[in-house]
Amino acid sequence: MSDRQAHISGESATAQARPGAGEPLLSVRDLCKYFPIRNKGFLRRLIGHVKAADQISFDLMPGETLGLVGESGCGKTTTGRAILRAITPTRGEVLFRANGGGAVDLAKLNRRELTPLRRKMQMIFQDPFSSLNPRMTVRDIVGEPLVIHRLAKGSELEDRVAEMLAMVGLKPEQGTRYPHAFSGGQRQRIGIARALIMRPSLVVCDEAVSALDVSVQAQVINLLQELQEQLGLTYIFIAHDLSVVKHICDRIAVMYAGRIVELSPCRELFEHPLHPYSRALLSAVPNADPTVKMNLDLTGEVADPGNLPSGCSFHPRCSRCFALCKETYPAFQASSPGRFCACHLEQENR
Ligand code: SF4
Repeated sequence: MSDRQAHISGESATAQARPGAGEPLLSVRDLCKYFPIRNKGFLRRLIGHVKAADQISFDLMPGETLGLVGESGCGKTTTGRAILRAITPTRGEVLFRANGGGAVDLAKLNRRELTPLRRKMQMIFQDPFSSLNPRMTVRDIVGEPLVIHRLAKGSELEDRVAEMLAMVGLKPEQGTRYPHAFSGGQRQRIGIARALIMRPSLVVCDEAVSALDVSVQAQVINLLQELQEQLGLTYIFIAHDLSVVKHICDRIAVMYAGRIVELSPCRELFEHPLHPYSRALLSAVPNADPTVKMNLDLTGEVADPGNLPSGCSFHPRCSRCFALCKETYPAFQASSPGRFCACHLEQENR
């Protein structure tokens, strides 16, 4: 077994935030998405893979919000897209209980089989402007998923669009306008209305507030929390900024170079991060107290997932690195109930 393969077993990462809360809505097991690297010659021979998402495993309970955080290029968006089957995973399982019944492995379904399940899982994108068709009115943008899936037409369609616009804080008469007439925060509300009009159970928010001003970010996060309560939504919240996920997530999975390196309940992660990379990310979170110095314990560039270093992918940047770190990838193991970490140091300290 290679050191990369030694990283994780499916069972070791099935942390549940709410034990006894029943079956998970989503169980991701050993999910991998590799992109081929080919040489520039005539035959374009395969010379390697970019391991954009590698051996990702976690459970997500109904009504829970899981944050996926890490620097740009760490694989969080690839993971979200592979779960929703916007891209096809290289291997692994994505077990989804769409209607509270038996689990369906999304990774194995073909396009036709996926179509009815797409209603139950939606994505909210980072850039509200580029994700909205500028030639369509807001009413048509929000109602389009119902039309495509033939779920409503005529007055029922109009009523459902008006109801959805009201739920995201827009007036029904604003439905006749075009996206350019709205502010960034309002455009994100339109994007949210479009994603939720099908009443999904799983929503992946991909940097959904990153492009917004800080004050507008807070409003949109509050709105997402209210809608979660009202509609019983389960979120995967992708962000590069820990200060954003702090206010919405129950648990946080910290990703580095395609892998989850720590999975912890939100509060525990902020109070006592286990992995040196989590600590470095937290040191970059702005502190309200100006006397607290920012101390980013991190040097060098993020690891290239197409050419990963030996052993722990984080070792060239880690101030705590020792000999074993350069040879063997640390196993992703439980550190305490509900907490998981991939670090030799953490395992030696137990
Ligand atoms: Fe740092 Fe070693 Fe832990 Fe990797 S395994 S994070 S290099 S201490």
